[in-house]
Amino acid sequence: MIKGSCLCGDIRFDTAAQPKGASMCHCSQCRKQSGGIWSSAYVRDEDLNITGRVSWFVASAAAKRGSCRRCGSFLFWKAHDEDTTSFALGAVDGNTGLSVEKHIFAASKGDYYEIADGVPQKD
Ligand SMILES: [Zn+2]
Repeated sequence: MIKGSCLCGDIRFDTAAQPKGASMCHCSQCRKQSGGIWSSAYVRDEDLNITGRVSWFVASAAAKRGSCRRCGSFLFWKAHDEDTTSFALGAVDGNTGLSVEKHIFAASKGDYYEIADGVPQKD
């Protein structure tokens, strides 16, 4: 069981499913919303339990982004046409038991760091 929350605790989530696709995203939207790299993994919508009121921001034609309206934590990313939701690995309480499988939108990364962990990169 993975459990997590936003910074203030108004929003909590958990899943008993095995998350997939652990990744670190360097795209400009994740950079701006999170302040840096956004790490996430996804489960099927029906396997993700969320309590609290998520503020959904439709950032693009492809997806919406869920955050806490009180503390601002960026917790969820959901593509409009997929039945999965990504959750922030940084918001998980305790160990995730996961390892990052890929860096995505690596070509959009900031110039102030290098990706040097040997994990596969996708632009
Ligand atoms: Zn909060």
